[in-house]
Amino acid sequence: MRWLVIGLLAAVYVFETVIAVLNFRHSRKPIPRNVEDVYDKKRYKKWLAYSLEGHRFNLVQQGLHLCVLIILLLGPFANLARAVSNWAADPIWQSLIFLGIYQTFMQLLAVPFRLYRTFSIEERHGFNRTAKKTFVRDTIVSYLVSLCLGGLVLGGIHVLFLKFSDRIWAFVGLTWAVLALIMVLAVAVIGKWLMRLFNRFTPLPPGELRNRIEGLGSSLGFNVKTILVMDASKRSTKSNAAFTGIGKTREVILFDTLLEKMSDDEILAVLAHELGHAVHKDTWRLLGRQVAMMAFVAAGIGLILQSPGLYLAFGFSGVHFGFGFILFSILLEPVALLLGVPFNLLSRKAEFKADAFAAEQTDAVWMVSALKALARENLVNLNPHPLAVLLYYSHPPISERIAAAQ
Ligand SMILES: [Zn+2]
Repeated sequence: MRWLVIGLLAAVYVFETVIAVLNFRHSRKPIPRNVEDVYDKKRYKKWLAYSLEGHRFNLVQQGLHLCVLIILLLGPFANLARAVSNWAADPIWQSLIFLGIYQTFMQLLAVPFRLYRTFSIEERHGFNRTAKKTFVRDTIVSYLVSLCLGGLVLGGIHVLFLKFSDRIWAFVGLTWAVLALIMVLAVAVIGKWLMRLFNRFTPLPPGELRNRIEGLGSSLGFNVKTILVMDASKRSTKSNAAFTGIGKTREVILFDTLLEKMSDDEILAVLAHELGHAVHKDTWRLLGRQVAMMAFVAAGIGLILQSPGLYLAFGFSGVHFGFGFILFSILLEPVALLLGVPFNLLSRKAEFKADAFAAEQTDAVWMVSALKALARENLVNLNPHPLAVLLYYSHPPISERIAAAQ
């Protein structure tokens, strides 16, 4: 059993490595005609170098992560659980301390990689604007938030497990309800609240752009009073725009980097795309899919907590809630990869529809030039491998989007 889990971990790594290599090789093939003018030759060379370095760095980081996890599985996890059981008598505290130590260790391990990515790779390719102070603050805040939110959710599920361990379907049902509620809250409020921990948001000042955005919104029956500019430029030069929240909590977010680099016409096309998502109720659909997915997650957690043999194989004396979560996340990975295929397919369809909507509401010319500007500023892969698109791409490749918009 032990080697089956470790084999699965390794198989996922090998599979993802193969896809990454295929994807990089594919990007060196001639790029589609309709995106030839996105980068000039010099910038395209720059892109290839950036991309290759990013791919290699990911593989090294994931490889190291894999090795550490395998070593931990072969003994240290069981030893840690035994040690923690001497420090705390309460099983909920035991699993929280166990997972807290694991989480802290993994985050510490990731810090040098994040440092190198931000201050070397992104810096050398001209994207980085993160000050050292921002980096330190980001690291500490995201660590504390993940510890607090993770602790609350896992502690809550553990309470349910202790109460309903003899009625597993009641446990699964209630866990699903809790996870679904968290998903809804995440989209409606928690996501917005978290974004505010890391960025400053200011209303888009009155003027021509604001008038045009409000005009576009009201012509579609949307009250877009909350148009906020996010100070994305304090970390990176990359740009984007998004709709956050749902129903009454909805907001339009524009990266300040987007305002720096795009014409009003292009910004309006990008916003019309986001409004298209709202008109098509894509956020609700996505939420529906995520809530359905949580049923699967809850059933998986229930199943793992009912399989004592798994824990014995890794040197535990019986079911251990904290370790159960680690096992669950390992076993979930290949399943999530597979489930990503239909999820991403639906998402790419929604993107095409939102593009078409934007082209109809503004002008296809502006939509196309906005797509090219976004691709250029974010150094997007113009020629991804179809298998990589199938597995990972929530948005269609840029050349397909442009072909469809024209
Ligand atoms: Zn979109």
